[in-house]
Amino acid sequence: MAERNVTATVRAVETAEGAGARVKRAIPNELGVLDPFVLLDEFYVNPPAGFPEHPHRGFEIVTYVLEGAFGHRDSLGTDQMVSAGGLQKISAGRGIWHSEMPGGTGLSHGLQLWVNLARQDKGLAPDYQSLRADEVPERAGQGVQTRVIVGPGSPVILHTPVLYLDVTLQPNTPWREQVPAEFAGFVYVLAGSGTFGADGASGHAGELLALGAGEDISATSEGQQALRFVLVAGEPHREPIRLRGPYVD
Ligand code: FE
Repeated sequence: MAERNVTATVRAVETAEGAGARVKRAIPNELGVLDPFVLLDEFYVNPPAGFPEHPHRGFEIVTYVLEGAFGHRDSLGTDQMVSAGGLQKISAGRGIWHSEMPGGTGLSHGLQLWVNLARQDKGLAPDYQSLRADEVPERAGQGVQTRVIVGPGSPVILHTPVLYLDVTLQPNTPWREQVPAEFAGFVYVLAGSGTFGADGASGHAGELLALGAGEDISATSEGQQALRFVLVAGEPHREPIRLRGPYVD
């Protein structure tokens, strides 16, 4: 089956967000959005910084905690803290208010992904779901550790078909994963460096690599450090995306 290659490499841009928080924004970028993905931020939040009360509508949010803990309170009455390795999913649907604040006294570090909703789903009732680290399925292979954030075995329910993996490769380890041919997607590198795709494109921490058409995607870690990246792919809606601040209409 055809192997995907890397069609573009984009460095995430550091920017201020919320109240005193810093994010490295990988989407949107100079290529625009990556249907069905509207936003990807790698966030770094130290108390008292955070994201006080604000609204969302029209899309779904997956917040994956890499370090520390991250709290969420919303207009549904949810009040939940998630520690490293866990995640929160919010279906904003027709509208929700929430705050997102670090837990504890140290750094909260993670990834926040916005997945568009199909036009027919934008009026759905809002919904919240959280998973502890031990509820995220893990697969271990030779020098490879894979956590399934969204996809086969994960209890996370999104209204768009999505595959979202957190992959760690020990040095000089090859990796290959099948991605449904109808999905569009990318790799975002969290740590280390390696080569990706049929043409062996280089990827380093803080870079997003957009994937071309095909099925399988491959990677090999390089250097002395482990390579950690997320693979995120999903079925595009092929509908106009209007991103206006916290809303996707
Ligand atoms: Fe938010």
